[in-house]
Amino acid sequence: MPSSLHPLLAELARLPGKTVKLQVSNSAMANLHRGYPWLYAERVKAESHRGQPGDLGVVYDGKGRFVAVGLYDPFSPIRLRVLRASKPGPIDRAFFAERLAAALARRLPLQGTQTDGYRLVHGESDRFPGLVIDRYAGTAVVKIYTHAWIPYLHDCLASLLEQQPLDRLVLRLSRGLREHPDCLHGLREGQILYGEPIRGVLTCRENGLLFEVDPIHGQKTGFFLDQRDNRARVEQLARGKRVLNAFSYNGGFSLAAARGGAVEVTSLDQSGQALDSSKRNFALNADVPTIAAARHHTIEGDAFRAMAELVKQGQKYDLVIIDPPAFAVRRSQVREALNAYGRLAHLGVNLLVAGGDIVLASCSNPVSPEDFRAAVCDAAARAGRPLREIQETGHALDHPLDFAESRYLKCLFAQA
Ligand code: SAH
Repeated sequence: MPSSLHPLLAELARLPGKTVKLQVSNSAMANLHRGYPWLYAERVKAESHRGQPGDLGVVYDGKGRFVAVGLYDPFSPIRLRVLRASKPGPIDRAFFAERLAAALARRLPLQGTQTDGYRLVHGESDRFPGLVIDRYAGTAVVKIYTHAWIPYLHDCLASLLEQQPLDRLVLRLSRGLREHPDCLHGLREGQILYGEPIRGVLTCRENGLLFEVDPIHGQKTGFFLDQRDNRARVEQLARGKRVLNAFSYNGGFSLAAARGGAVEVTSLDQSGQALDSSKRNFALNADVPTIAAARHHTIEGDAFRAMAELVKQGQKYDLVIIDPPAFAVRRSQVREALNAYGRLAHLGVNLLVAGGDIVLASCSNPVSPEDFRAAVCDAAARAGRPLREIQETGHALDHPLDFAESRYLKCLFAQA
Protein backbone atom coordinates (compact mmCIF):
# COMPACT_ATOMS: atom_id res chain seq x y z
CA MET A 1 0.00 0.00 0.00
CA PRO A 2 1.72 3.24 -1.04
CA SER A 3 1.59 5.78 1.75
CA SER A 4 1.69 8.82 -0.44
CA LEU A 5 -0.09 10.57 -3.22
CA HIS A 6 0.87 10.04 -6.85
CA PRO A 7 4.23 11.88 -7.33
CA LEU A 8 2.83 13.80 -10.30
CA LEU A 9 0.60 15.76 -7.96
CA ALA A 10 3.56 17.13 -6.01
CA GLU A 11 5.30 18.09 -9.26
CA LEU A 12 2.19 19.85 -10.52
CA ALA A 13 1.83 21.70 -7.24
CA ARG A 14 5.21 23.27 -7.90
CA LEU A 15 4.28 24.62 -11.33
CA PRO A 16 5.02 28.32 -11.14
CA GLY A 17 1.57 29.86 -10.84
CA LYS A 18 1.21 33.51 -11.72
CA THR A 19 -1.40 35.91 -10.56
CA VAL A 20 -3.75 37.49 -13.05
CA LYS A 21 -5.30 40.79 -12.01
CA LEU A 22 -8.87 41.21 -13.14
CA GLN A 23 -11.08 44.26 -13.53
CA VAL A 24 -14.74 43.42 -13.54
CA SER A 25 -18.13 45.02 -14.20
CA ASN A 26 -20.00 46.69 -11.36
CA SER A 27 -22.65 43.99 -11.28
CA ALA A 28 -20.00 41.26 -11.04
CA MET A 29 -18.30 43.23 -8.25
CA ALA A 30 -21.59 43.41 -6.36
CA ASN A 31 -22.05 39.64 -6.80
CA LEU A 32 -18.55 38.93 -5.52
CA HIS A 33 -19.18 41.16 -2.50
CA ARG A 34 -22.30 39.10 -1.78
CA GLY A 35 -20.17 35.94 -1.79
CA TYR A 36 -21.21 34.64 -5.23
CA PRO A 37 -18.57 32.06 -6.19
CA TRP A 38 -18.44 32.58 -9.96
CA LEU A 39 -17.13 35.36 -12.16
CA TYR A 40 -18.29 34.95 -15.75
CA ALA A 41 -15.86 35.72 -18.56
CA GLU A 42 -18.17 38.33 -20.10
CA ARG A 43 -18.08 40.32 -16.84
CA VAL A 44 -14.31 40.73 -17.02
CA LYS A 45 -13.42 44.22 -18.29
CA ALA A 46 -9.66 43.76 -18.34
CA GLU A 47 -7.00 41.20 -17.46
CA SER A 48 -3.39 42.07 -16.57
CA HIS A 49 -2.42 39.32 -19.03
CA ARG A 50 -3.85 36.13 -20.46
CA GLY A 51 -3.24 33.55 -17.76
CA GLN A 52 -3.01 29.80 -17.68
CA PRO A 53 -5.45 27.47 -15.95
CA GLY A 54 -4.34 27.15 -12.37
CA ASP A 55 -3.09 30.70 -12.08
CA LEU A 56 -4.79 32.59 -9.32
CA GLY A 57 -7.05 35.40 -10.45
CA VAL A 58 -7.43 38.38 -8.16
CA VAL A 59 -10.14 41.02 -8.38
CA TYR A 60 -9.61 44.52 -6.97
CA ASP A 61 -12.14 47.32 -6.83
CA GLY A 62 -11.73 50.79 -8.36
CA LYS A 63 -9.81 51.93 -5.29
CA GLY A 64 -7.38 49.04 -5.47
CA ARG A 65 -8.96 47.18 -2.55
CA PHE A 66 -9.05 43.38 -2.57
CA VAL A 67 -12.39 41.85 -3.55
CA ALA A 68 -11.76 38.16 -4.27
CA VAL A 69 -9.18 35.58 -5.24
CA GLY A 70 -9.85 32.29 -6.97
CA LEU A 71 -9.05 29.69 -9.58
CA TYR A 72 -8.54 31.24 -13.00
CA ASP A 73 -9.62 29.33 -16.12
CA PRO A 74 -9.13 30.94 -19.55
CA PHE A 75 -11.11 28.14 -21.28
CA SER A 76 -14.24 28.24 -19.17
CA PRO A 77 -17.16 30.66 -19.40
CA ILE A 78 -16.62 30.82 -15.63
CA ARG A 79 -13.33 32.74 -15.69
CA LEU A 80 -12.86 32.72 -11.93
CA ARG A 81 -14.08 30.33 -9.25
CA VAL A 82 -13.76 32.19 -5.99
CA LEU A 83 -11.83 30.68 -3.11
CA ARG A 84 -11.60 33.70 -0.83
CA ALA A 85 -13.66 36.87 -0.86
CA SER A 86 -13.47 40.11 1.13
CA LYS A 87 -10.29 39.18 3.05
CA PRO A 88 -7.08 38.16 1.27
CA GLY A 89 -5.12 35.17 2.53
CA PRO A 90 -3.01 32.26 1.39
CA ILE A 91 -4.41 29.41 -0.71
CA ASP A 92 -2.44 26.62 0.89
CA ARG A 93 -2.78 23.34 2.67
CA ALA A 94 -4.08 24.92 5.87
CA PHE A 95 -6.69 26.78 3.88
CA PHE A 96 -7.96 23.58 2.23
CA ALA A 97 -7.74 21.70 5.53
CA GLU A 98 -10.13 24.15 7.17
CA ARG A 99 -12.64 23.96 4.35
CA LEU A 100 -12.46 20.17 4.30
CA ALA A 101 -13.00 19.98 8.04
CA ALA A 102 -16.19 22.00 7.58
CA ALA A 103 -17.37 19.75 4.76
CA LEU A 104 -16.66 16.59 6.76
CA ALA A 105 -18.40 18.01 9.82
CA ARG A 106 -21.58 18.43 7.79
CA ARG A 107 -21.51 14.72 6.96
CA LEU A 108 -21.04 13.60 10.57
CA PRO A 109 -24.67 12.44 10.80
CA LEU A 110 -23.75 9.77 8.23
CA GLN A 111 -20.86 8.40 10.25
CA GLY A 112 -21.55 5.06 11.86
CA THR A 113 -24.74 4.62 9.83
CA GLN A 114 -25.46 1.96 7.24
CA THR A 115 -24.36 4.39 4.51
CA ASP A 116 -20.74 4.53 3.37
CA GLY A 117 -21.43 5.84 -0.15
CA TYR A 118 -22.00 9.57 0.00
CA ARG A 119 -20.70 12.90 -1.24
CA LEU A 120 -17.84 14.27 0.83
CA VAL A 121 -17.45 17.56 -1.03
CA HIS A 122 -20.23 19.15 -3.06
CA GLY A 123 -18.47 21.84 -5.05
CA GLU A 124 -19.59 25.43 -4.61
CA SER A 125 -21.93 24.60 -1.72
CA ASP A 126 -18.96 23.33 0.29
CA ARG A 127 -16.81 26.24 -0.92
CA PHE A 128 -14.76 24.03 -3.25
CA PRO A 129 -15.95 25.50 -6.54
CA GLY A 130 -15.55 23.09 -9.45
CA LEU A 131 -14.61 20.08 -7.30
CA VAL A 132 -16.67 17.10 -6.20
CA ILE A 133 -15.48 14.24 -4.00
CA ASP A 134 -17.67 11.17 -3.63
CA ARG A 135 -16.87 8.39 -1.25
CA TYR A 136 -17.61 4.71 -1.82
CA ALA A 137 -16.50 2.93 1.32
CA GLY A 138 -12.67 3.21 1.29
CA THR A 139 -12.46 4.74 -2.18
CA ALA A 140 -13.00 8.42 -2.90
CA VAL A 141 -13.59 9.68 -6.42
CA VAL A 142 -12.28 13.18 -7.05
CA LYS A 143 -13.97 14.90 -9.97
CA ILE A 144 -12.67 18.20 -11.26
CA TYR A 145 -14.64 20.57 -13.48
CA THR A 146 -11.74 22.90 -14.30
CA HIS A 147 -8.03 22.39 -15.02
CA ALA A 148 -7.47 25.13 -12.50
CA TRP A 149 -7.70 22.60 -9.69
CA ILE A 150 -4.68 20.63 -10.89
CA PRO A 151 -1.91 22.54 -9.05
CA TYR A 152 -3.97 22.45 -5.84
CA LEU A 153 -4.88 18.77 -5.83
CA HIS A 154 -1.79 17.82 -3.87
CA ASP A 155 -2.49 20.08 -0.90
CA CYS A 156 -6.17 19.45 -0.99
CA LEU A 157 -5.96 15.67 -1.17
CA ALA A 158 -3.13 15.44 1.35
CA SER A 159 -5.43 17.24 3.81
CA LEU A 160 -8.28 14.95 2.91
CA LEU A 161 -6.21 11.85 3.69
CA GLU A 162 -5.13 13.37 6.99
CA GLN A 163 -8.69 13.99 8.05
CA GLN A 164 -10.46 11.03 6.53
CA PRO A 165 -8.84 7.62 6.39
CA LEU A 166 -9.24 6.30 2.83
CA ASP A 167 -7.66 3.44 0.89
CA ARG A 168 -7.79 4.91 -2.56
CA LEU A 169 -8.35 8.10 -4.54
CA VAL A 170 -9.53 8.00 -8.17
CA LEU A 171 -9.50 10.98 -10.52
CA ARG A 172 -12.40 11.80 -12.83
CA LEU A 173 -12.37 14.66 -15.31
CA SER A 174 -15.45 16.51 -16.51
CA ARG A 175 -15.96 16.22 -20.24
CA GLY A 176 -14.77 19.75 -21.10
CA LEU A 177 -11.32 19.11 -19.63
CA ARG A 178 -10.51 16.46 -22.18
CA GLU A 179 -10.69 19.12 -24.92
CA HIS A 180 -7.40 20.60 -23.66
CA PRO A 181 -5.25 17.53 -23.00
CA ASP A 182 -2.04 19.60 -22.72
CA CYS A 183 -3.40 21.28 -19.65
CA LEU A 184 -3.87 17.94 -17.93
CA HIS A 185 -0.05 17.66 -17.59
CA GLY A 186 -0.21 13.87 -17.81
CA LEU A 187 -3.19 13.34 -15.51
CA ARG A 188 -5.71 10.89 -16.89
CA GLU A 189 -9.37 10.05 -16.51
CA GLY A 190 -9.69 7.23 -14.00
CA GLN A 191 -6.13 7.62 -12.72
CA ILE A 192 -5.40 6.23 -9.29
CA LEU A 193 -4.00 9.15 -7.29
CA TYR A 194 -3.53 7.18 -4.10
CA GLY A 195 -3.67 3.53 -3.15
CA GLU A 196 -3.84 0.33 -5.12
CA PRO A 197 -5.49 -0.13 -8.51
CA ILE A 198 -9.05 -1.41 -8.33
CA ARG A 199 -9.18 -5.18 -8.57
CA GLY A 200 -12.52 -6.93 -8.59
CA VAL A 201 -15.77 -5.33 -7.70
CA LEU A 202 -16.00 -2.30 -5.49
CA THR A 203 -19.11 -1.97 -3.37
CA CYS A 204 -20.67 0.64 -1.14
CA ARG A 205 -23.62 0.69 1.20
CA GLU A 206 -26.58 2.99 1.00
CA ASN A 207 -28.95 2.65 3.94
CA GLY A 208 -27.61 -0.87 4.38
CA LEU A 209 -28.15 -1.92 0.75
CA LEU A 210 -25.04 -3.08 -1.09
CA PHE A 211 -24.33 -1.67 -4.55
CA GLU A 212 -21.46 -2.38 -6.88
CA VAL A 213 -19.73 0.79 -8.04
CA ASP A 214 -17.51 1.40 -11.02
CA PRO A 215 -15.85 4.73 -10.25
CA ILE A 216 -13.91 4.71 -13.52
CA HIS A 217 -16.49 3.80 -16.15
CA GLY A 218 -19.75 4.40 -14.29
CA GLN A 219 -22.03 7.36 -14.86
CA LYS A 220 -21.36 10.41 -12.69
CA THR A 221 -18.73 9.12 -10.25
CA GLY A 222 -20.18 5.60 -10.30
CA PHE A 223 -23.50 5.86 -8.50
CA PHE A 224 -26.33 8.40 -8.13
CA LEU A 225 -25.78 9.34 -4.51
CA ASP A 226 -28.20 12.24 -4.57
CA GLN A 227 -31.33 10.05 -4.44
CA ARG A 228 -30.57 8.31 -1.13
CA ASP A 229 -33.38 9.91 0.87
CA ASN A 230 -35.87 9.56 -1.97
CA ARG A 231 -35.04 5.86 -2.27
CA ALA A 232 -35.72 5.50 1.46
CA ARG A 233 -39.12 7.13 0.89
CA VAL A 234 -39.85 4.69 -1.92
CA GLU A 235 -38.97 1.80 0.38
CA GLN A 236 -41.66 3.00 2.79
CA LEU A 237 -44.28 3.03 0.02
CA ALA A 238 -43.51 -0.32 -1.57
CA ARG A 239 -45.01 -3.08 0.58
CA GLY A 240 -47.06 -5.57 -1.41
CA LYS A 241 -46.77 -3.54 -4.61
CA ARG A 242 -45.94 -4.05 -8.27
CA VAL A 243 -43.35 -1.46 -9.10
CA LEU A 244 -42.02 0.02 -12.35
CA ASN A 245 -38.68 1.81 -12.09
CA ALA A 246 -38.01 3.69 -15.33
CA PHE A 247 -34.47 4.96 -16.01
CA SER A 248 -33.37 2.52 -13.34
CA TYR A 249 -29.58 2.64 -13.93
CA ASN A 250 -28.13 0.05 -11.53
CA GLY A 251 -31.38 -0.37 -9.62
CA GLY A 252 -31.10 2.06 -6.69
CA PHE A 253 -34.87 2.57 -6.46
CA SER A 254 -35.58 -1.04 -7.46
CA LEU A 255 -33.64 -2.43 -4.50
CA ALA A 256 -35.20 0.03 -2.10
CA ALA A 257 -38.67 -1.00 -3.31
CA ALA A 258 -37.79 -4.68 -3.04
CA ARG A 259 -36.48 -4.34 0.50
CA GLY A 260 -39.66 -2.44 1.34
CA GLY A 261 -41.67 -5.50 0.40
CA ALA A 262 -42.60 -4.97 -3.25
CA VAL A 263 -43.78 -8.27 -4.74
CA GLU A 264 -42.50 -7.43 -8.20
CA VAL A 265 -40.08 -4.82 -9.49
CA THR A 266 -39.43 -4.01 -13.13
CA SER A 267 -36.25 -2.08 -13.92
CA LEU A 268 -36.35 -0.29 -17.27
CA ASP A 269 -33.28 1.29 -18.85
CA GLN A 270 -31.78 1.64 -22.30
CA SER A 271 -28.43 0.41 -21.03
CA GLY A 272 -28.04 -3.35 -20.88
CA GLN A 273 -24.93 -2.87 -18.76
CA ALA A 274 -26.87 -0.86 -16.19
CA LEU A 275 -29.56 -3.55 -16.07
CA ASP A 276 -26.96 -6.29 -15.66
CA SER A 277 -25.54 -4.32 -12.78
CA SER A 278 -29.03 -4.03 -11.24
CA LYS A 279 -29.36 -7.82 -11.41
CA ARG A 280 -26.00 -8.25 -9.70
CA ASN A 281 -27.12 -5.77 -7.05
CA PHE A 282 -30.21 -7.89 -6.36
CA ALA A 283 -27.90 -10.89 -5.99
CA LEU A 284 -25.58 -8.95 -3.66
CA ASN A 285 -28.52 -8.26 -1.34
CA ALA A 286 -30.15 -11.67 -1.54
CA ASP A 287 -29.66 -12.19 2.18
CA VAL A 288 -32.46 -9.66 2.77
CA PRO A 289 -35.60 -11.85 2.81
CA THR A 290 -37.86 -9.30 1.11
CA ILE A 291 -35.30 -8.79 -1.66
CA ALA A 292 -34.91 -12.53 -2.17
CA ALA A 293 -38.70 -12.85 -2.33
CA ALA A 294 -39.30 -10.01 -4.81
CA ARG A 295 -39.53 -10.89 -8.50
CA HIS A 296 -37.16 -8.65 -10.47
CA HIS A 297 -37.69 -8.13 -14.20
CA THR A 298 -35.72 -5.96 -16.55
CA ILE A 299 -36.72 -4.25 -19.78
CA GLU A 300 -33.96 -2.94 -22.02
CA GLY A 301 -35.04 -0.13 -24.28
CA ASP A 302 -36.02 3.48 -24.70
CA ALA A 303 -38.24 4.36 -21.75
CA PHE A 304 -40.66 6.49 -23.77
CA ARG A 305 -41.27 3.70 -26.25
CA ALA A 306 -41.21 0.88 -23.72
CA MET A 307 -43.70 2.64 -21.44
CA ALA A 308 -46.00 3.33 -24.39
CA GLU A 309 -45.81 -0.36 -25.23
CA LEU A 310 -46.64 -1.32 -21.62
CA VAL A 311 -49.67 1.01 -21.78
CA LYS A 312 -50.75 -0.69 -25.00
CA GLN A 313 -50.46 -4.08 -23.33
CA GLY A 314 -52.70 -2.83 -20.52
CA GLN A 315 -50.02 -3.29 -17.84
CA LYS A 316 -50.71 -1.64 -14.49
CA TYR A 317 -48.40 -0.93 -11.54
CA ASP A 318 -49.07 0.21 -7.99
CA LEU A 319 -45.96 2.37 -7.89
CA VAL A 320 -44.18 4.01 -10.83
CA ILE A 321 -40.80 5.73 -10.45
CA ILE A 322 -39.45 7.89 -13.26
CA ASP A 323 -35.97 9.36 -12.69
CA PRO A 324 -34.52 10.23 -16.10
CA PRO A 325 -31.14 11.79 -16.97
CA ALA A 326 -30.94 15.57 -17.31
CA PHE A 327 -32.98 16.69 -20.31
CA ALA A 328 -31.71 20.29 -20.12
CA VAL A 329 -28.29 21.68 -19.34
CA ARG A 330 -28.93 25.08 -20.96
CA ARG A 331 -31.86 27.46 -20.71
CA SER A 332 -32.60 27.02 -24.39
CA GLN A 333 -33.42 23.35 -23.71
CA VAL A 334 -35.91 23.98 -20.91
CA ARG A 335 -39.04 24.01 -23.04
CA GLU A 336 -38.16 20.71 -24.68
CA ALA A 337 -37.24 19.21 -21.31
CA LEU A 338 -40.60 20.23 -19.79
CA ASN A 339 -42.30 18.65 -22.75
CA ALA A 340 -40.42 15.39 -22.12
CA TYR A 341 -41.29 15.42 -18.39
CA GLY A 342 -44.94 15.95 -19.38
CA ARG A 343 -44.84 12.98 -21.75
CA LEU A 344 -43.30 10.78 -19.07
CA ALA A 345 -45.88 11.85 -16.48
CA HIS A 346 -48.64 11.09 -18.98
CA LEU A 347 -47.22 7.61 -19.63
CA GLY A 348 -46.61 7.08 -15.91
CA VAL A 349 -50.17 7.80 -14.77
CA ASN A 350 -51.53 5.63 -17.59
CA LEU A 351 -49.56 2.73 -16.12
CA LEU A 352 -50.87 3.30 -12.57
CA VAL A 353 -53.73 1.51 -10.88
CA ALA A 354 -56.36 3.93 -9.55
CA GLY A 355 -54.91 5.66 -6.49
CA GLY A 356 -51.40 4.35 -7.21
CA ASP A 357 -48.21 6.19 -6.29
CA ILE A 358 -45.99 7.97 -8.74
CA VAL A 359 -42.51 9.39 -8.17
CA LEU A 360 -41.14 11.80 -10.77
CA ALA A 361 -37.67 13.29 -10.60
CA SER A 362 -35.75 15.86 -12.60
CA CYS A 363 -32.05 16.56 -12.36
CA SER A 364 -32.12 19.23 -15.07
CA ASN A 365 -30.44 22.21 -13.47
CA PRO A 366 -32.12 25.00 -15.53
CA VAL A 367 -35.62 23.57 -14.98
CA SER A 368 -37.18 25.30 -11.95
CA PRO A 369 -39.09 23.28 -9.35
CA GLU A 370 -42.24 25.28 -10.19
CA ASP A 371 -42.03 24.60 -13.91
CA PHE A 372 -41.29 20.93 -13.33
CA ARG A 373 -44.25 20.55 -11.02
CA ALA A 374 -46.54 22.42 -13.42
CA ALA A 375 -45.42 20.31 -16.40
CA VAL A 376 -46.07 16.98 -14.72
CA CYS A 377 -49.28 18.07 -12.97
CA ASP A 378 -50.73 19.46 -16.22
CA ALA A 379 -49.84 16.31 -18.12
CA ALA A 380 -51.36 14.04 -15.46
CA ALA A 381 -54.53 16.15 -15.37
CA ARG A 382 -54.79 16.01 -19.17
CA ALA A 383 -54.53 12.23 -18.93
CA GLY A 384 -57.55 12.35 -16.65
CA ARG A 385 -55.44 11.35 -13.62
CA PRO A 386 -54.74 14.54 -11.65
CA LEU A 387 -51.98 14.24 -9.05
CA ARG A 388 -52.95 14.40 -5.36
CA GLU A 389 -51.10 14.55 -2.03
CA ILE A 390 -48.09 15.99 -3.72
CA GLN A 391 -44.83 16.12 -1.78
CA GLU A 392 -41.73 17.72 -3.17
CA THR A 393 -38.32 16.64 -1.98
CA GLY A 394 -34.77 17.32 -3.06
CA HIS A 395 -31.22 16.47 -2.21
CA ALA A 396 -29.91 14.47 0.72
CA LEU A 397 -27.77 16.21 3.39
CA ASP A 398 -24.47 15.43 1.68
CA HIS A 399 -25.60 17.57 -1.27
CA PRO A 400 -26.04 20.91 0.51
CA LEU A 401 -27.65 23.82 -1.28
CA ASP A 402 -25.72 26.86 -0.11
CA PHE A 403 -25.21 27.85 -3.71
CA ALA A 404 -28.61 28.25 -5.39
CA GLU A 405 -27.32 27.05 -8.77
CA SER A 406 -26.38 23.74 -7.23
CA ARG A 407 -30.06 22.91 -6.70
CA TYR A 408 -30.68 20.56 -9.58
CA LEU A 409 -32.65 17.70 -8.11
CA LYS A 410 -36.42 17.92 -7.89
CA CYS A 411 -38.46 14.93 -6.84
CA LEU A 412 -42.21 14.77 -6.62
CA PHE A 413 -44.19 12.07 -4.80
CA ALA A 414 -47.91 11.91 -5.57
CA GLN A 415 -50.94 9.72 -5.99
CA ALA A 416 -53.09 9.57 -9.10
N1 SAH B 1 -32.72 6.44 -11.39
C1 SAH B 1 -31.32 6.13 -11.35
C2 SAH B 1 -30.49 7.16 -12.05
C3 SAH B 1 -30.89 7.41 -13.46
S1 SAH B 1 -29.60 7.95 -14.46
C4 SAH B 1 -30.84 5.92 -9.94
O1 SAH B 1 -31.64 5.95 -9.01
O2 SAH B 1 -29.64 5.69 -9.75
C5 SAH B 1 -30.31 7.91 -16.00
C6 SAH B 1 -30.45 6.52 -16.61
O3 SAH B 1 -31.29 6.66 -17.73
C7 SAH B 1 -29.16 5.91 -17.12
O4 SAH B 1 -29.03 4.61 -16.58
C8 SAH B 1 -29.34 5.83 -18.64
O5 SAH B 1 -28.81 4.62 -19.18
C9 SAH B 1 -30.84 5.83 -18.76
N2 SAH B 1 -31.40 6.41 -19.99
C10 SAH B 1 -31.07 7.54 -20.63
N3 SAH B 1 -31.91 7.79 -21.65
C11 SAH B 1 -32.81 6.77 -21.66
C12 SAH B 1 -33.95 6.46 -22.45
N4 SAH B 1 -34.34 7.25 -23.45
N5 SAH B 1 -34.64 5.36 -22.17
C13 SAH B 1 -34.26 4.53 -21.15
N6 SAH B 1 -33.21 4.79 -20.37
C14 SAH B 1 -32.50 5.88 -20.60
